[in-house]
Amino acid sequence: MVIQKLVLENPGGADKKHLKEAVESFLYELVKNGQVWESQWVLAWEGDTLMGYIKTPAVEAVMPQHHSQSVTSLQREVEEIAEAPIKWVEIENHNSQDVEWHQEEYLYLFTHCFDDSSPLCAGSNGKPIPLYSLELGSKLTHELVNWMTTYKTLDSLWLNSGPLEMDAYKQIAGIKSQFYKDTKTLQLQLEDALSKPVFYYLLRYWGRSDNEFDRLCPSCGGQWLIDESIDTDLFFKFNFKCDDCRLVAHIADSYDDERKARTGEYQQRS
Ligand SMILES: [Zn+2]
Repeated sequence: MVIQKLVLENPGGADKKHLKEAVESFLYELVKNGQVWESQWVLAWEGDTLMGYIKTPAVEAVMPQHHSQSVTSLQREVEEIAEAPIKWVEIENHNSQDVEWHQEEYLYLFTHCFDDSSPLCAGSNGKPIPLYSLELGSKLTHELVNWMTTYKTLDSLWLNSGPLEMDAYKQIAGIKSQFYKDTKTLQLQLEDALSKPVFYYLLRYWGRSDNEFDRLCPSCGGQWLIDESIDTDLFFKFNFKCDDCRLVAHIADSYDDERKARTGEYQQRS
């Protein structure tokens, strides 16, 4: 993740409120296109210059070559109002290196409510892949960003332990949920666009103290255990993987309530 400063001068003396709103619209479109992370920026005037602190997946994420048509046209609109170009200045860079994903055997979908990186990760090392580098087109990129936002909302509802705790958990950790169905649809679209298997990381919080490693693939009922002793401190090392169902998972975290372990277990259809 990178923090960049947006700098926009206003030499023509345009109405500040109007210009700020145009910049907001431009930034929201960048979010939809996977070029900016979340809409938690701060925009403020410093004299006649508008400044913004924005989270982006990489320094080059906001470059024009990654823009969708809508982003390009909104940038043009902003620059016409301001009579000046939008400038970006790198402030903090937490990225170790860009991820070259073409050589990856597979990718997987994973995020959580505190995540500020891409929801699509490289199978061999777990590194999040900046969405603009996938060249998915604006429609599919937007669907992927929406998927990420929904996952984070559900994860947050689960962690808050309020009245929707179990409903939210079943959505992201079970395979009978609407969210799982939507995820499958997205996986197929991504595989089609990327010509590469795309797995879903299926959360497993509550498990069974006996035979947790014997858990079958919750979707097909097949054996999917890879390794019991794998070092799951490295997140991308999975205990379970089903190639047919495109699912990966870890061993459970908690064994204090086995009634909740049923979610994410294979249930034979009667
Ligand atoms: Zn399976």
